[in-house]
Amino acid sequence: MDTAAAINERDPFISTKGKQKTSLKCDADSIAGCVSQRACVYCGARVVLNPITDALHLVHGPIGCASYTWDIRGSLSSGSDLYRNSFSTDLKEHDVIFGGEPKLQRAIDELVEKYQPKVFFIYSTCIVGVIGDDLEAVCRQSAAKHGIEVIPVQSSGFIGNKAAGYRAACDALLRIITPQKPLPRKKLSLNYLGDFNLAGEAWIIRGYLEEIGIEVNAVFTGDSNYETLKKATMASLNVMQCAGSMTYLANKMQEKFDIPYLRISFLGMEDTADSLRRIAHFFGDAAIIERAEQLIAREQQAVQPVLDTYKGQFNGKKAAVYVGGGFKAISLIKQFREIGIDVVMVGTQTGQQDEYDTIHELADDGTVILDDANPSELERFMTQQGANLLVGGVKERPLAYKLGIAFVDHNHDRKHPLSGFVGAVNFAKEVHSTLCSPVWEYMYDFGGDLHGSDSQA
Ligand code: SF4
Repeated sequence: MDTAAAINERDPFISTKGKQKTSLKCDADSIAGCVSQRACVYCGARVVLNPITDALHLVHGPIGCASYTWDIRGSLSSGSDLYRNSFSTDLKEHDVIFGGEPKLQRAIDELVEKYQPKVFFIYSTCIVGVIGDDLEAVCRQSAAKHGIEVIPVQSSGFIGNKAAGYRAACDALLRIITPQKPLPRKKLSLNYLGDFNLAGEAWIIRGYLEEIGIEVNAVFTGDSNYETLKKATMASLNVMQCAGSMTYLANKMQEKFDIPYLRISFLGMEDTADSLRRIAHFFGDAAIIERAEQLIAREQQAVQPVLDTYKGQFNGKKAAVYVGGGFKAISLIKQFREIGIDVVMVGTQTGQQDEYDTIHELADDGTVILDDANPSELERFMTQQGANLLVGGVKERPLAYKLGIAFVDHNHDRKHPLSGFVGAVNFAKEVHSTLCSPVWEYMYDFGGDLHGSDSQA
């Protein structure tokens, strides 16, 4: 199959398993003119910090940056819903010429008076990077004036790609969690990193861990709040679901606070069971290991027959995966295997070299693997590979529907959880409802005919 890119510079970012190079270029800035599916630096920072429920998010920039990311995660909260607002300094030409700092200061004063937030994030956007407003100084003055934490998020657009935004968010989180003096360590306690509680996933995983005798100290950042994040350094372990956004923070916490971390994944039955076992063995407590095994056996017994029922209906179906991070893509390849579907294309926005190596190892011969794709490449490879289904996020949804193939949202817009054992069942159900929907019978095919319709004019 021809996998030469339309733009030559994209060649190193695309490969076919079994036919070409095994190592893929990744973790680089997008090539100009390619219209990458990646979001901007600011957006990368916002998606990580937005789920902190009692934080106030003020975007220092033109109105569009705030409007485009309003309630972006759709994350669920068990407490405050302040985070679901989006505030902006709405910079105009005058501010760009004479500086936006006075306007920023006024906006902070007004919002503190109106909402009394416990923590305030001030995001830098492209234009703020250009005009050089000193966010650090304004935040310092505001923090002193109001007696709350006002944290600058250095996410102006020209400092890199979306991954730079993840790091900016992690730096902001480090400011919150670094204690004045060391806090005591809790022995059987962990922080759960990289779950944004889009549809209650963090609550499901918390339930599993509590059942086996492990306390979830803080979640980064789904359904988290200022008080719990302040106590993050009390945990004995960090476990990380979304490695793309949280590896930087996990490494920093290991360096600064001596908290080790495990990469885990609660997507799919196999990875959920494996993750629970690895966590239980980390703590090395015989009772915890025993309870973990009991939980896994009970859930597998309940879930396997349901997955088997769906599996029988997916014969010959092929899936394409295009998601944010590499670890999610790895889990999805395994999860599709659990329900008998072949993955024929796998791509990510911010995957790392070691993750692409694992994807390459796991994928079947002939699978197209690509980093930082654009819509044209996704269309071409899904069509060439004969994919019946795409798993992606909000930006990929219209592409799938325009191609007349099924789609599963694995990002912001979901309303049911896809993590844990219950998530494995929900995933199979959703794949079934979209893949086996009768609507595809009524789509135009690429020759322009309408299948099964009597409405040809
Ligand atoms: S930060 Fe820059 S790229 Fe991002 S939404 Fe604002 S203007 Fe657009």
